[in-house]
Amino acid sequence: MERFDADVIVIGAGVIGLAAARAVALQGRDVIVLESEPLIAAHTSSRNSEVIHAGIYYANGSLKARHCVAGRRKLYAYLDTHGVTYKNCGKLVVAHGDETDGLGAIVARAEANGVEGLSILSGDEARALEPELHPGIEAAIHSTVSGIFDSHGYFLALQGELEDEGGVIAFETPVIRGEVLSDGVELETGGGAPAIIKAKTVINAAGHYSVFLAAKIEGDHVAGLPTPRYVKGSYFGITGKTPFSRLIYPMPGRASLGLHLSIDLGGHGKLGPDAEWLAPDAKPPFDYRVDPARADLFYASARRYWPGLEDGDLAQDYAGVRPKLVGPDEPSGDFIIEQAGPHLINLMGIESPGLTSSLAIADHVAQLLA
Ligand SMILES: Cc1cc2nc3c(=O)[nH]c(=O)nc-3n(C[C@H](O)[C@H](O)[C@H](O)COP(=O)(O)OP(=O)(O)OC[C@H]3O[C@@H](n4cnc5c(N)ncnc54)[C@H](O)[C@@H]3O)c2cc1C
Repeated sequence: MERFDADVIVIGAGVIGLAAARAVALQGRDVIVLESEPLIAAHTSSRNSEVIHAGIYYANGSLKARHCVAGRRKLYAYLDTHGVTYKNCGKLVVAHGDETDGLGAIVARAEANGVEGLSILSGDEARALEPELHPGIEAAIHSTVSGIFDSHGYFLALQGELEDEGGVIAFETPVIRGEVLSDGVELETGGGAPAIIKAKTVINAAGHYSVFLAAKIEGDHVAGLPTPRYVKGSYFGITGKTPFSRLIYPMPGRASLGLHLSIDLGGHGKLGPDAEWLAPDAKPPFDYRVDPARADLFYASARRYWPGLEDGDLAQDYAGVRPKLVGPDEPSGDFIIEQAGPHLINLMGIESPGLTSSLAIADHVAQLLA
């Protein structure tokens, strides 16, 4: 088996691995990204809503709150300077009856997170913006900084900058195991050309696999690793014209932001994701097929804000799986960005808003290395 030395190894070419690899390469380090699949962003990074989140819901002081707000500002600036398409379309979080009591607390939390551009609208004001909204909606939060973007254009821009800085991505190169040493980390890779690589620094951004992989890299950190849990989120596409121009969200649930309506840059609408907890022993790889029987839930949930949705308007689309670190009865968890000694950084539980937060997470990782 071939053996070689490396400076920085990033495991995973999803958005988090790509953004971290770019940030570290810009610091002048030599970076190699190891990716099991034959292409970038093959998993969660391509199976989400492509929403640029404002940072409204996350617990004050959490990494999710900090990195979402900072990451969103960095992301809009990055998309501008790199010519990646986006639309700052805004978002409404709509409330019926008793739900309206909760809107003030959501806005207060968001403002404490540093979110700008928020206001509470009456039902009539919300319907003046979006006439197809349900007549029973009594109030809404309007977020003007939320948006949608071409996430694949963004990933390609990150990859291009990484490569311009001399970084490389080794595809079809899964990391199988490793060991933390006193002066670095040794990794064993599989695939067509198995190798032993000794790196000064390893960044584990393996998404669904990151906790399992952290456990396979021998070292003191293994004893304190969290237990991964997974929540599948399915989407249904809207077959006809979507009569909304903003993102429409119901009040948030415990495991998700609620079954929302989003629009892509081509104007195509979709509903989702819903939140289906997988069994406690569920492990990747996951079945991403969408169960057609879930359509009933989608029609019922969406009609609470869009009464004009007609039978037959929805078609099964795609699904993604949230990598969580908490169970269904626990408070929603935070991202973990763990420095496991001087040579290993584990990124775990990078669920939503990971896409929005990616540039801020990458800066966090780069600061740990600096
Ligand atoms: C349904 C859903 C909707 C979402 N919507 C949004 C949204 O609208 N806005 C937002 O900001 N965020 C959203 N998110 C969150 C966002 O998509 C994720 O936070 C982000 O994509 C995570 O990226 P990642 O790089 O950590 O993981 P991934 O994209 O899964 O990348 C991990 C990579 O590691 C590779 N890998 C795994 N194991 C190994 C190994 N042993 N060796 C080598 N490579 C390996 C995998 O092949 C994969 O390419 C959503 C998530 C879900 C599930």
